[in-house]
Amino acid sequence: MERRAFVVKGIVQGVGFRPFVYRIARKHELGGFVLNDGEGVVIEVEGNGPALERFESALREEAPPLAQIDSVETRGVELRGETEFRIHVSQPRGGTALIPADVATCDDCLRELFDPDDRRYRYPFINCTQCGPRFTIVTGVPYDRPLTTMAGFPLCVDCQREYQDPDDRRFHAEPIACPVCGPQVTISIEDAARLLRDGSILAVKGLGGYHLACDAASEATVARLRARKLREDKPFAVLTSEPELLVDPNAEEAALLRSRERPIVLARRRADAPVAFSVAPGTPWLGVMLPYTPLHHLLLDAFGGALVLTSGNRSDEPIAHEDDEARERLGGIADAFLAHDRPIHRRCEDSVVRAAYPIRRSRGYAPGALPLPIRAARPIVAAGAELKSTFCVARDAQAFLSPHLGDLDSELAYRAFITDLELYLAMLGAEPEVIAHDLHPEYLATKWALEQDAEHVGVQHHHAHAAACLAEHGETGPALALVFDGTGYGTDGTLWGGELLRCDLNSFERLAHLEPIPLPGGEAAIREPWRVAAACLERAGEPVPWERWEVVRHALKVNAPLSSGMGRLFDAVAAVLGVRDSVTYEGQAAIELEQLAGETAADPWTWRFGDGTALVTDCYLALRAGGDRAEIAAAFHETVAAAAAEACAEAASPPTIVLSGGSFQNLRLLSSTKRRLERLGFRVLTHRLVPPNDGGISYGQAAVAASRV
Ligand code: ZN
Ligand code: ZN
Ligand code: FE
Repeated sequence: MERRAFVVKGIVQGVGFRPFVYRIARKHELGGFVLNDGEGVVIEVEGNGPALERFESALREEAPPLAQIDSVETRGVELRGETEFRIHVSQPRGGTALIPADVATCDDCLRELFDPDDRRYRYPFINCTQCGPRFTIVTGVPYDRPLTTMAGFPLCVDCQREYQDPDDRRFHAEPIACPVCGPQVTISIEDAARLLRDGSILAVKGLGGYHLACDAASEATVARLRARKLREDKPFAVLTSEPELLVDPNAEEAALLRSRERPIVLARRRADAPVAFSVAPGTPWLGVMLPYTPLHHLLLDAFGGALVLTSGNRSDEPIAHEDDEARERLGGIADAFLAHDRPIHRRCEDSVVRAAYPIRRSRGYAPGALPLPIRAARPIVAAGAELKSTFCVARDAQAFLSPHLGDLDSELAYRAFITDLELYLAMLGAEPEVIAHDLHPEYLATKWALEQDAEHVGVQHHHAHAAACLAEHGETGPALALVFDGTGYGTDGTLWGGELLRCDLNSFERLAHLEPIPLPGGEAAIREPWRVAAACLERAGEPVPWERWEVVRHALKVNAPLSSGMGRLFDAVAAVLGVRDSVTYEGQAAIELEQLAGETAADPWTWRFGDGTALVTDCYLALRAGGDRAEIAAAFHETVAAAAAEACAEAASPPTIVLSGGSFQNLRLLSSTKRRLERLGFRVLTHRLVPPNDGGISYGQAAVAASRV
């Protein structure tokens, strides 16, 4: 007879791990106990040697699908003569146990949800050890019901029996609930569906916040939602249980749609999709998502069509997640509320992905750890950038990227940043000793960072982009980096964004960049790309085709910051080709320029990477000479890709190149640049885990800080 103790770390709480241990201990006829503590799962088992060995291999090899074992420590301990195996009460201590992400409703629960004989038939909060809310309802570790927002719902006799029965699939399912004892919705699903059919806009309380929902097929309703939400053109996502009616997903997109993370997936919209034009104007892509909570399943089932499902906020603010706050903020937008009484502890927006890269890493992925190729010797908080804000907490060899917070230039978003960071630090039991931040002095995140009493590490914006891409591949460099985005503060105080760097995680060297072009009127030129185009044409000595230029051109003398941003170059070309003169959301002109280019074949023009003014002028002259707009747009994409690849060839080494920055969300630019670089013999790394846009900046900052300290 022997007795062994195990400490299992990783994502082992809230994934059915203790019931699993209980089952394998009983199967091998071992005595002992299992419990959660702040560090992970603690197990002691005793029995004969071979049985213990079989137990140990089962522990590692048969773990539940949602578990992620990072380490198993084991040692011999003194025999106690135990023959029974028990699940003990959790012991709150330490603080390194990882909370799992929220998981979409599993197939077993779905079957019960629509089974008239089941006691949870049509119950909107059905869940089990394999599915349901986690991250958004957990208030502390260890993960146990009293430390979730389900604490206020005492179990009924039936739920209690299931919870205690090792053979039940809800054995120790902490959010367990039923119609007798669990949360309730504020209006019936049938009433909610009827309101939606009548054209109402509904605020729907979800997992990580409130959404606004409406009939996706109704042009008038979607237009009303846009007007009330103050969101002019930025595409909405659609919730559907029949995605094949709306989009033509490839195999990878279809797999992402059905993954347990259930992100919004951008896929090619079908020409006959029964979706109002104004859901996603100006783009051939549609963001679709399958239902991921029982409430969504029931609502879609009762409604019988596709629903727009967009974050409950005004544009670019953080999602509303507290009930009073939601009533106040969404009262003027929604006609009615479908809420419930299960509190949301943490805000978490829907994730958005493309097959090629993530766009927003939130629900379903957060708070999952990302690897850090260099251990953080001391705990690090990275404050991130301004738009698409996230923060990142790093500890040891792991980095925890926050969910999407929105644009940090509003008071509301700044408050969300502060509260959500506190919650993250509490969850991880981390006290930050190092704070990493962007160099932009006007970013609220930078200002916050500099106020903190800690060691500060300033990280240049594009170095952070490049570091994020290196780090997610587990690499430290050196590497070349093409970082193309809209705006980032450079070390010389001007705005950068068309960069070829040579870097490692520690430092960088700027090898080449787009020549800065003036932004007449500053911010106004970002909203009105025609201004940038006009400034380029004037510089080149060409006539400016916009009459308004006469009233704006004086801005060149008084307010025209310089920018080498690739985003501005795309904007200017879009304006020159008549795609659009002004934009209502970041990246809109570039997205529509990419769409105009489509699959049109084109060879690159002769252009040396750098002189944006010349390229804008070339596009203008080609158009004036009677060129086809789509062909010019295509040639422009190929020219940028070819010239960037040539600049890399001139830099010659190292042989690895990372591609990062928001402009690489342009699939044509991304694939053409990658193809050309690979043809030149480079090894090309692109983003797979974190967004290429500013949502990934905080992770890159954390990687740089880990390297520097
Ligand atoms: Zn389930
Ligand atoms: Zn119950
Ligand atoms: Fe950026």
